[in-house]
Amino acid sequence: MTSTLKITDLPVAGYERVVRGVDPSCGLHAIIAVHDTTLGPALGGLRMWPYASEDEALFDVKRLSRGMTFKSAVAKTGLGGGKAVMIGDPKKVKSEALYLAMGRLVDSLGGKYITAEDVNTSVQDLEIIRRVTKHVTGLERKDGGSGNPSPYTAYGVFLGIRAALGWVFGNDACKGRTVAIQGTGAVGSALAKRLIDAGAKVYGADRNTERLQQLQKEIGVVPVGENEILTMKCDVFAPCALGAVLNDDTIPKLNTPIVAGAANNLLLEPRHGKVLADRNVLYAPDYVINAGGIVNVSVEFHPGGYDEKVALGKIERIPQALKELWQIAKDERIPPSDAADRLAERILADARGQKKAAACSVPPKGTRRG
Ligand code: NAD
Repeated sequence: MTSTLKITDLPVAGYERVVRGVDPSCGLHAIIAVHDTTLGPALGGLRMWPYASEDEALFDVKRLSRGMTFKSAVAKTGLGGGKAVMIGDPKKVKSEALYLAMGRLVDSLGGKYITAEDVNTSVQDLEIIRRVTKHVTGLERKDGGSGNPSPYTAYGVFLGIRAALGWVFGNDACKGRTVAIQGTGAVGSALAKRLIDAGAKVYGADRNTERLQQLQKEIGVVPVGENEILTMKCDVFAPCALGAVLNDDTIPKLNTPIVAGAANNLLLEPRHGKVLADRNVLYAPDYVINAGGIVNVSVEFHPGGYDEKVALGKIERIPQALKELWQIAKDERIPPSDAADRLAERILADARGQKKAAACSVPPKGTRRG
């Protein structure tokens, strides 16, 4: 079939490149946002979602790609930030032709953007994309990839929760602690297992009640209702489902000294970091504690290729990064979320400065250095 893919640049201030790809032959309507490549190629997942409009998709892809820049900067992955979204209902529109067209759109950016798994995109979908572009990560181990990132994300969140327990209670042991997990999906269930193995009592809520019951049987997660999970008394609230769950409505109802979970963009607005701090709730900034997955993927770019030991070693630095942010927050009387943003911005500004200085020191063509 001949491709009818039409690629259009969308000028968006503050973003290196934003492109729209439309292919009526397969129903593709996608946007890729490359936010920043100062630290390396822009890596971020491909999300499919039934957005109500292109404006809504653009808003989401901008927000997510900027988040990836910050996440990779603080986690020191050597990568920049980008993201891709496909507009559509995954139950209705998924097809091989659709992913081939998406792959061509990814390829058109020549490696400036590298794609990966995200909501409603599976490794199988990525395998199709790989047929038309090499700029894909997170493929199965047998195909030279780093595999499913979720267990690595869960490991980082587990270590981050322990760091938070140590910070608040002076003892990072999980034994006897209660953790309320909102969303026991890929990350939430792996996190629950680690916590239970370490002696914590874990409560879980999920819309997928069958899966929750299975987790109750298999590992002892105690199921609670969707509303209860947010308000129950616990030592840690671990949101692992959706973004924006920390807002004016929910924060006053929290009954926990710690919020530390895997979901992205947990604060509805940046100011909610202060609302949490004012209530004396310790917050583990989302993109710092949930960086295990991207750290794992980033190891694919190391000269010797993917090595799990290297990935685990880097993930084990997450607790230290969190403790440094909490200390900055304490010393400077700012919320930890602001401390994380400042750190990311400083890392990016330094790297931009170094690039500029390097560019200025290159002698003009035709001159020789003695
Ligand atoms: P997932 O889809 O496997 O799990 C999410 C779970 O949340 C599902 O089981 C879903 O039924 C449940 N859920 C949805 N709405 C809910 C609600 N209102 N109340 C309770 N449960 C609800 O996704 P995942 O891969 O486990 O990721 C979880 C979160 O972590 C997402 O926000 C994702 O963006 C973020 N994250 C994931 C990774 C990763 O490596 N998978 C990395 C970084 C961040």
